[in-house]
Amino acid sequence: AKALGGGRKGIFEAGMHTRAMELFRLENELRRAIEREEFTAHYQPIVSLKTGLISGFEALVRWRHPERGLIRPDEFVPVAEETGLIVPLELSVVREACASLVSWQREFPQHRPLTMSVNLSRNQLARPELPEQVERILLETGLDARSLRLEVTESAIMENVGSAAATLSRLRDMNIRVHIDDFGMGYSSLSVLHQLPIDALKVDRSFVGRMDGANDDVEIVQTIITLAHNLGLDVVAEGVEREEHLDRLRRLGCDYAQGFLFSEPLDAAGARRLLSAYRRW
Ligand code: C2E
Ligand code: CA
Ligand code: CA
Ligand code: CA
Repeated sequence: AKALGGGRKGIFEAGMHTRAMELFRLENELRRAIEREEFTAHYQPIVSLKTGLISGFEALVRWRHPERGLIRPDEFVPVAEETGLIVPLELSVVREACASLVSWQREFPQHRPLTMSVNLSRNQLARPELPEQVERILLETGLDARSLRLEVTESAIMENVGSAAATLSRLRDMNIRVHIDDFGMGYSSLSVLHQLPIDALKVDRSFVGRMDGANDDVEIVQTIITLAHNLGLDVVAEGVEREEHLDRLRRLGCDYAQGFLFSEPLDAAGARRLLSAYRRW
């Protein structure tokens, strides 16, 4: 530390101190928010490109902060992961999302099969108790395991392929499907992709958003779709914002799409309204 020199060292430490204080404050806030059940799920529809109908929803966590209003995950998920608080937080989102889906499946039988995708952080993949906890949530909510999809990123799996693959295999043995989130953003995964217990790839929205013919991103998306289909996997495109993206994805044989073109993430009441509106079409 001495090598940094007197003045610089002082500034550096002040910065570290502030960041540590900020983390500590946020960690305490998160802990309290979990106790007060301030986290809730919003739902974004996933549309089948074969039928044009809603095939399911992705649950996305929101923090209903008493003073600051609705807070997006990017502002607190990283700290929740760092502190491990993501584990109880995420399980509460999974429980809420499963319960929502059960009531929608009952209310809108014409939409069957309706699925629910939930995000699982890297922290969960290293936990041997995860499959039993998910099983308990399914039992408590009465959701059929075949309706549930777990979204995990490539990087979360690659961090410890062995234990992640073992956990995912157990979940898949329970008839739960596993989707790779943000596909294309990780690396070195192609070689192990076919060995992983997975069912679908979600093409990262950065590729979808740049599919405009002026660059190579159409070919990238095309390649991912071909690769996935050759491996027997479905493809979900995320971040679909424009009609022309949808047209292209359909022509490329993409299976499912999700994005602001169809709908933003909605609260449970909004998602329910969306389903009941579809009834009339
Ligand atoms: P993600 O899993 O890739 O989720 C998709 C994100 O893209 C969502 O942001 C969604 O609102 C946004 N999005 C959807 N359609 C479009 C579009 O057409 N254009 C653009 N630009 N964005 C679109 P959100 O809800 O802010 O979530 C951000 C990230 O936070 C998620 O990315 C996920 O990594 C994380 N996250 C959300 N919920 C959870 C959770 O329960 N557990 C964990 N570990 N992470 C979560
Ligand atoms: Ca996701
Ligand atoms: Ca994603
Ligand atoms: Ca993401």
